[in-house]
Amino acid sequence: MIDYIVVGFGLAGLAFVDKLENNNKSYTVYENYSEKSSRVAGGLYNPVILKRFTAAWLASEQLQLALSVYKGIEDKLGESIISELAVLRRFNSVEEQNLWFEACDKPILDRFLSSELVRNENDALDISFHYGKVKHTGRINVKRMLSLYLQNVEKKKKLMKESFQYDQLVITEDFIEYKGIKARNIVFSEGYGVRNNPFFNYLPLIGNKGEYITIKSKRLKLEEAVKSSIFIIPLGDDLYKVGATYNNQDKTPNTTKSAKEELQSKLERFLKVDYEVVDQEAGIRPTTRDRRPLIGTHPEHKNMHIINGLGSRGILIGPYVAEKLYDHIEKEKLLDKEIDIKRFEKL
Ligand SMILES: Cc1cc2nc3c(=O)[nH]c(=O)nc-3n(C[C@H](O)[C@H](O)[C@H](O)COP(=O)(O)OP(=O)(O)OC[C@H]3O[C@@H](n4cnc5c(N)ncnc54)[C@H](O)[C@@H]3O)c2cc1C
Repeated sequence: MIDYIVVGFGLAGLAFVDKLENNNKSYTVYENYSEKSSRVAGGLYNPVILKRFTAAWLASEQLQLALSVYKGIEDKLGESIISELAVLRRFNSVEEQNLWFEACDKPILDRFLSSELVRNENDALDISFHYGKVKHTGRINVKRMLSLYLQNVEKKKKLMKESFQYDQLVITEDFIEYKGIKARNIVFSEGYGVRNNPFFNYLPLIGNKGEYITIKSKRLKLEEAVKSSIFIIPLGDDLYKVGATYNNQDKTPNTTKSAKEELQSKLERFLKVDYEVVDQEAGIRPTTRDRRPLIGTHPEHKNMHIINGLGSRGILIGPYVAEKLYDHIEKEKLLDKEIDIKRFEKL
């Protein structure tokens, strides 16, 4: 009998598996590479909502925990995955600049927003107003982190590279059994893939498709992430991620010509040098109606749990909700009502 089966290894599955590792719990992971949300993510961690200049949900608490979790993972992997990266918010008007100053004085935000405005000195960019600088931001190399972590899981013979088949699951009072593996608990972390899960597809996961292009530009020479109507995120070697799009109608996994055109048109409004598009990626963010994660235990099966609904901020939210779910299962701690899937029980 093992302690856990974990289905899905994106940011949610990784955060939960890391919690299991740190607590010496035995587990097996199922991963079929069907969803790409985490693997295409820009990788930014940023505690501020840059559209409205407000703090993200539980920003301080989540940031502190997430950084300590990712530092721990860095140590385990023996490779650097976190890089500090300044985020500069481009102002579109004097009014916006004034709103920024007002926000700088608000509690919580005063920690994250710098009141010293930054002048654009990069002549590859046509930026007429100043930038506001967000503090305590950075980038996690999510693709690399997931790949290295999963390699370690595979070396320990705890990885099944296959689709989890829900109809093969046997549920008893005290354990669950799947293809001969008995486990005390099963945790589903399939991101948008949860729509195929008959036990949890009653939950209102909406899904929002996001696409990025990667450009190469020798003359851009940008060292900070710039947020205008889109983000430009430096990756090194003259490569930049540009995006992302938000689309809650198209739920197909493939990249689209329209997204590429939208991103290029937004980029060309302020990029004044040549560039070449070298890649394009798409993924579906697991978003929810009330913008809160979906965490908890199945209403009928006490050994079956879910960690999902990380939306567009999986890097900061993942470690926080993994800890909450772990403590709920292992220490019988009550989940906060705003994240507990009980809020949708009547569905
Ligand atoms: C374009 C884009 C940019 C983003 N940028 C950022 C960013 O900069 N910062 C940030 O914090 N967040 C960002 N996000 C959001 C973030 O990526 C998500 O919050 C996060 O990926 C959700 O993680 P997840 O593990 O729940 O889902 P996923 O990453 O989708 O992982 C689910 C996993 O489950 C597997 N799976 C599903 N079904 C099965 C099955 N039946 N059997 C086996 N395996 C299965 C899938 O293959 C997948 O690996 C971005 C998202 C997108 C799409």
